Amino acid sequence: MQMRNRFSLRKSVRTLLSLACLSAIALGQSQRTVTKLAEGVYEIEHARNGGGNTTVIIGDRQVFVVDSCFLPSAAREDIAQIRQWTNKPVSFVLNTHFHNDHNFGNRVYMDAYPALTIIAHVETKADMDRFGPGTLVREEKDAYGFQKMLDTGKTPDGVALTEDQKTEVKTVLAEKPAVLEELKNIKFQSATLTFEHDFALDLGNREVQVKFLGRGNTAGDAVVYLPKEKIVVAGDLVVYPIPNMIDGYPVEWIQTLQNLAQLDADTIVPGHGPVLHDKSYVYLLRDLMKSAVDQVNETLKQTSPAMFQTVNDVRGTVDLTPFRQRFAGNDPDLATAFDDLSAQLVKLVFEEASSR
Ligand SMILES: [Zn+2]
Repeated sequence: MQMRNRFSLRKSVRTLLSLACLSAIALGQSQRTVTKLAEGVYEIEHARNGGGNTTVIIGDRQVFVVDSCFLPSAAREDIAQIRQWTNKPVSFVLNTHFHNDHNFGNRVYMDAYPALTIIAHVETKADMDRFGPGTLVREEKDAYGFQKMLDTGKTPDGVALTEDQKTEVKTVLAEKPAVLEELKNIKFQSATLTFEHDFALDLGNREVQVKFLGRGNTAGDAVVYLPKEKIVVAGDLVVYPIPNMIDGYPVEWIQTLQNLAQLDADTIVPGHGPVLHDKSYVYLLRDLMKSAVDQVNETLKQTSPAMFQTVNDVRGTVDLTPFRQRFAGNDPDLATAFDDLSAQLVKLVFEEASSR
């Protein structure tokens, strides 16, 4: 299990420059927005580069923050706003998973609140420790890789960039120097407390439940549930409008989403994107993954086991286009992002089948 995990992570680092990743970056919003979910509960959606969503849960005694986002400047802005909302201390930051756009702001919170406890699933802490310290070096490599894509007009896999994609790459590159400058001045801070299954906290008239519902986006995805307010903070198990599938465990992810949908909730905070007010998108994600897994398995059953094939042998037999309209509507950019995602999903499913 651990070896498979490592393999998956190495892959994730290698595919940072994929088209699916580029689409995900380009889909980011230009403005930071804040949404009040209940009295004392807020979701912050960061501007592009800022990182994944942050959720702030304020109790009578303490504050609990879900995900510390990526850029130190974005985390500082969030803390300044929390201090306007309440004079209670942030006692807990929970990192939903190891991807650094959800936890690189940890150090900023630790500096602002020295008594802070940073919580993560045990697998997430292990992965953060492995990959967090290399963040600056990877960002520098990314910048170099994007520049090379622009110079050659191709992805590292040799796929020609469209004009739209070239514009996306230029946008990403233009923002890189400021990002690198910020990262140079800050050290990575890992989790200080780990858990394996679940636990509950009382912040003072505010119950917070932290759950591990199974693997999905990573090996240690944590979900935060507020039973009274019927709010679920899902991390990147749920990313809207196009899921994030740089790596992950699609077969188990289907069941994990099913477990998530069983929580009594009417507000779902995705890892990226606006707040969702019902479970329909969670079911859509589950159905997309199930369709990919079923189709790949059917092909392997009728041909030969995955170990004797490559992903390109099975790709043509998997058709996810019936889902395109449901994810992308009539938006051509979203449709392109969906197609990039589909290709990535088939690859993940095939690799998961190969490892069995
Ligand atoms: Zn993310």
